[in-house]
Amino acid sequence: MTTQEKMLIGGRWVDAASGETQAIINPFDASVIAQAAKAGAEDANQAIAAAKRAFYENGWGETAAPERARLLNAFAGLMEKGAEELARLETLNTGKALIESQCDVADSIACLHYYAGLVNKPLGHTYSVSDPAVCGFSVREPVGVCGMISAWNFPISLAVWKIAPALAAGNSIVFKPAELTPLSAIRIFEMLEKAGYPVGVVNLVTGPGRVVGQTIAESEDVDKVAFTGGIDAGRHVMRAAAGNMKNISMELGGKSPNIIFADADFDAAVDYGLFGIFYNQGEVCSAASRLIVENSIYDRYLEALVAKTKKIKIGNGLDPDVRMGPLISEEHMNNVLGYIELGVREGATLACGGKRVVKPGYEKGFFVEPTVFTDTRPDMRIVREEIFGPVVTLQRFDGEEEAVRLANDTSCGLAAGVFSSNISKAIRVIRKVRAGITWINSYGPVYNEAPWGGYRQSGIGRELGISGIEDYTEVKQININTNVAPTGWFD
Ligand code: NAP
Repeated sequence: MTTQEKMLIGGRWVDAASGETQAIINPFDASVIAQAAKAGAEDANQAIAAAKRAFYENGWGETAAPERARLLNAFAGLMEKGAEELARLETLNTGKALIESQCDVADSIACLHYYAGLVNKPLGHTYSVSDPAVCGFSVREPVGVCGMISAWNFPISLAVWKIAPALAAGNSIVFKPAELTPLSAIRIFEMLEKAGYPVGVVNLVTGPGRVVGQTIAESEDVDKVAFTGGIDAGRHVMRAAAGNMKNISMELGGKSPNIIFADADFDAAVDYGLFGIFYNQGEVCSAASRLIVENSIYDRYLEALVAKTKKIKIGNGLDPDVRMGPLISEEHMNNVLGYIELGVREGATLACGGKRVVKPGYEKGFFVEPTVFTDTRPDMRIVREEIFGPVVTLQRFDGEEEAVRLANDTSCGLAAGVFSSNISKAIRVIRKVRAGITWINSYGPVYNEAPWGGYRQSGIGRELGISGIEDYTEVKQININTNVAPTGWFD
């Protein structure tokens, strides 16, 4: 059944001003599952105006901390009640395995509780200055109107990573989900409204990035823009945001390395090698798309990885046994298949996978086999560019120095892993790798309590953790003179 979806602007559920809609597709069978409003600049501007009124005129900006915490906890409670339905909807819209959607919802609920708990914790500090009569302290205040532009690979999590800290800090928000995956965001905004946020504090606009995203990024009435997506779109958003010098945060792409030393726990290193790239069909910003394996175990590692890769159960995400679903769209599937063809032309060897999955019942779905490339060179495009699909390249190394050199041979710096039973060596190596999210002897877990974000072209700022809420605040210093007397400076 196809549903007709609206947007939440200024406390009302509305269609696009133009009346246009966008068909939303289930990537498992290309069926249309909903029609979403296709907003234009006019709709985005109305949402921004509503958020501005709510923050600057209607008092949301001064809402006390306990009330902000209460609302976030109420929102979390509603998400808990609707968890299973939300997870199923996420799988319908993205294709991902249901177990992954269930994890995303559970982690998002925990994220909401985490930020509700941080609302009244000290985020400012006191300081001493040279004049003993001055008492100084800093406070954190909301930035104001926050525009949020998000990606399609983890629609629920990415939305909550922005919405939770922004509302905890007292901002009003205008959220734009990816055009391909708005359905879970629509349910989330229904919950936000039901939780009792005042009119205009939370606004949802569904529509194309080049119009709605661009309008949010360039609006002089938006004080901050938080963006998750690819590096190219990130550049556009930064340029557009320069007009009024917005506060910006950017969560961008990666080409992350996972270094496997010969002394690692072999089975764990193989298992996480698989998990690091094939979770969520490889459509993960922090995916370990480059496995860098010590020469002495390379052949054995490759053999074990390929054997396990061939056993991954691909299919309809709603089947509870499935561990890998289709890619998000036909266009994206063709991009990924194009990279695989390119890798072969560049001279890499396909150790397994490489084709679209075509078997009875799957003909319309956007499935790509989990793919492993060996015999790669560091200059190949499949080793250098983010493919954002189930494709991993293997590279050989000898010794710590070469491992670090290969790991850092990228313009990105989102995530990295090291596997070794020598913890001193593992720490030495991870400290030399230029990346913001790192794991030793595991790969992939996301912790709400830890700062998430990248070095270099992988981004600016951090989501999650204390940094996550700090990024939605301005810092104000307050200096109190306890010795009140004229300065006499111009006497
Ligand atoms: P994308 O094409 O860059 O789109 C991201 C968002 O930006 C979408 O909402 C898109 O709108 C919008 N957009 C596109 N062009 C825009 C413009 N000129 N101005 C304003 N907004 C614009 O990325 P994606 O394909 O959705 O997601 C994949 C990328 O996101 C990968 O590179 C991945 O690594 C990255 N990512 C990073 C993180 C992280 O935490 N670092 C997390 C997840 C994903 P429409 O799509 O609706 O047109």
